[in-house]
Amino acid sequence: MSKIAMSTPLVEMDGDEMTRILWQMIKDELLLPYVDLKTEYYDLGLECRNDTDDQVTIDAAEATKKYKVAVKCATITPNAARVEEYKLKKMWKSPNGTIRAMLDGTVFRSPIFVKGIEPVVKNWKKPITLARHAYGDVYKNAEMKIPGPGKVELVYTAADGSQQKELIHEFEGPGVVQGMHNLDASIESFAKSCFNFGLDTKQDVWFATKDTISKKYDHHFKDIFQKVYDEEFQEKYEKAGITYFYTLIDDAVARIMKGEGGVIWACKNYDGDVMSDMVSSACGSLAMMTSVLVSPHGYYEYEAAHGTVQRHYYRHLKGEDTSTNPVATIFAWTGALAKRGELDQNPALTDFARRLEKATLKTIEDGKMTGDLAAMTAIPSPTILNSREFIRAIAENLNA
Ligand code: NAP
Ligand code: MG
Repeated sequence: MSKIAMSTPLVEMDGDEMTRILWQMIKDELLLPYVDLKTEYYDLGLECRNDTDDQVTIDAAEATKKYKVAVKCATITPNAARVEEYKLKKMWKSPNGTIRAMLDGTVFRSPIFVKGIEPVVKNWKKPITLARHAYGDVYKNAEMKIPGPGKVELVYTAADGSQQKELIHEFEGPGVVQGMHNLDASIESFAKSCFNFGLDTKQDVWFATKDTISKKYDHHFKDIFQKVYDEEFQEKYEKAGITYFYTLIDDAVARIMKGEGGVIWACKNYDGDVMSDMVSSACGSLAMMTSVLVSPHGYYEYEAAHGTVQRHYYRHLKGEDTSTNPVATIFAWTGALAKRGELDQNPALTDFARRLEKATLKTIEDGKMTGDLAAMTAIPSPTILNSREFIRAIAENLNA
């Protein structure tokens, strides 16, 4: 059987620990036998990042700008314990943060739906995609404890020295204050990424903030979204038969809980952090969440939402078989291959990616799955497989 050809490489970013092991298994069993895989390989494993002074991460992001589509394995974000464990030269920054900053992207996360693993919210029939603005607000705040009586103000000093002030509070006793900011350019990029992803996936886009209370800050987000939509997307949305709609975040929450899903829900930074945890918990497993970074310049980077599954890796190192779930990592590959196929007008590649997704879901629906899914499935007496057995079962379905 001849393998599917690729005309342009994918940027392949390898990673750490258990997901690095899964990465190789997926390539060996599910990709290389079927696709004449062309990738430009970057090793984002922590050792290589340390050896290259993290230059490899920057190179990988640059390559993504060149080729437009990347697939990334989960990577360790070093903390003090990791600096010790890997004898690092320094506490390297999160690769995801570095790549996101270079591509100026927004992260979209959605759960993978499969029969037998039902979301806790019974009426959710389609995945809810969370888009989180990844710049500013409370994540780049300035905070101060107020020891006692006194006045706190916001002060803006313009380049010409002129000032604008706004009273925050006249304190009569101790308290606390916080200042935060955002940038029009960042909000615009966020809006564009959301609207582009809506077009890409043919889903409605919702955006919600607390603009009734935050009449300048949140309202400004709302205005920028509306402006970007009116100027660049309205016509395209009408043609595609999808809609953009803004609502108060309270209303969005109520609609999400009562709706059937199938929408892109754009959130400010903090809301997105919390709401994506809510959606992923309600859908069962972190191992079934996909994640894609979409930049307003048309770059895509696909990955699983979970981390390197450290605890499983230590068991793997002791020679134990682990039942680590590879589904989100498989879907990172299929997302990237399908996008590559779409951009290169290579329908055979896109079709292969979709067939691999179906084969993966069918394996679970047939009752064969990893331990995390077996613990929550509605399918009676599922067969628990280790990672390699599960991946081989997927290959059998793919061949059939
Ligand atoms: P994690 O790797 O997501 O794993 C947390 C726990 O969730 C696991 O111990 C496991 O629970 C369960 N789990 C996650 N993925 C699973 C899978 N595919 N199959 C089965 N169970 C799964 O988070 P972590 O342990 O907090 O972080 C480990 C490392 O990952 C850290 O160094 C962190 O920096 C990194 N990280 C990277 C990314 C990224 O690259 N995008 C994201 C998050 C974290 P049980 O042990 O109970 O089975
Ligand atoms: Mg969170």
